Amino acid sequence: MNNHVMPTYARLPVCFERGEGVWLLDNDGNRYLDAISGIAVCNLGHAHPAVTAAITQQAGKLVHTSNLYRIELQETLADALVSASSMDNVFFCNSGAEANEAAIKLARKYGHGLDVEKPTIVVMEGSFHGRTLATLSATGNRKTQEGFEPLVDGFERVPYDDMGAISAIDNSNVVAVLVEPVQGEGGVRIPHPNYLRHLREICNQRGWLLMLDEVQTGMGRTGSMFAFQQAGILPDVFTLAKALGNGVPIGACLARGTAAEILTAGKHGSTFGGNPLACAAALAVLKTLREENLVDRAHILGSAIAESLRTELGGNLHVIEVRNQGLMIGIQLDKPCGELVGLALEKGLLINVTAETTIRLLPPLILSDEIARHLVEQLIGIVDAYL
Ligand code: PLP
Repeated sequence: MNNHVMPTYARLPVCFERGEGVWLLDNDGNRYLDAISGIAVCNLGHAHPAVTAAITQQAGKLVHTSNLYRIELQETLADALVSASSMDNVFFCNSGAEANEAAIKLARKYGHGLDVEKPTIVVMEGSFHGRTLATLSATGNRKTQEGFEPLVDGFERVPYDDMGAISAIDNSNVVAVLVEPVQGEGGVRIPHPNYLRHLREICNQRGWLLMLDEVQTGMGRTGSMFAFQQAGILPDVFTLAKALGNGVPIGACLARGTAAEILTAGKHGSTFGGNPLACAAALAVLKTLREENLVDRAHILGSAIAESLRTELGGNLHVIEVRNQGLMIGIQLDKPCGELVGLALEKGLLINVTAETTIRLLPPLILSDEIARHLVEQLIGIVDAYL
């Protein structure tokens, strides 16, 4: 163990040297099936040839220039994202937290434009939006916030998936709602199918911006390119990161209509945001998702895996529920199950446990039927032995 890395992570005792599609190889030559994709990042698997080619070609040409100048690949990527999402424009940054920071700043400035005294954003219990000060303040998990007080002001919290609580808000400072279409870190919590539509309606009625955090749900993960597309609505703002670059750090905050006119010259920025290397990777990701039809694949495969898990684990008294939206899959147990991560690792399977009692699977979208069956069989063996 290296003592010079700040100990901010409880790391598992394994170190990977190489990746090939859905497999990771450690430096002793052992092979692991990656059912977590670097936490919803490597949706195309590891070392996808299209991404590797895009990065290597771009690295040989130009990595970085700064946003002092036009960046053609950034403009091309913005066009591609706007056309995929029906938004109007994009701000590029480097991570999910930064993308959400941009959204938070945008909402505050929108509020000040309306002469709102203390612009306030409605956020959810159980949410996760990042680790910067504003995003951890927006996050609905006390553990993430503890020790970092004073928190950033200007957030009002309500229970997730509870329209009554939103409708009951009586605060003239509210200017926006920030919400995950599916809560990932919160335990793969999937709201009622009408939830986003209802939020859209109430935001329209009250003049609030609807801002979706699609950092985990975006880029095909839930069976549509962006999760909001399944609800048949458009947000005013949404954020992306994680799978956008398949591992090359890039984040994005997209806006539409009035919201697209808020962040003007000098109001926000990032040295690295949207540099040529990151944009080349993201363009390759978008192209590959389309060419390999991986978004539909996430829907079909997610349903098949979840159905098998329901059938096989349904009889187990400790399994409360198997939830999925596309390849965002949660197995809710009736007890804490963090140890399962280490047990699965010993068997060559990478999984994750979130919200203490939910086994979370976020496999790459390139998973074959055969390996999906292998994943289910292996997981069932591990879970059955544990429970
Ligand atoms: N938003 C959501 C929904 C996330 O799941 C995460 C990370 O897990 C973030 C924001 C923060 O992203 P990052 O770690 O890239 O800052």
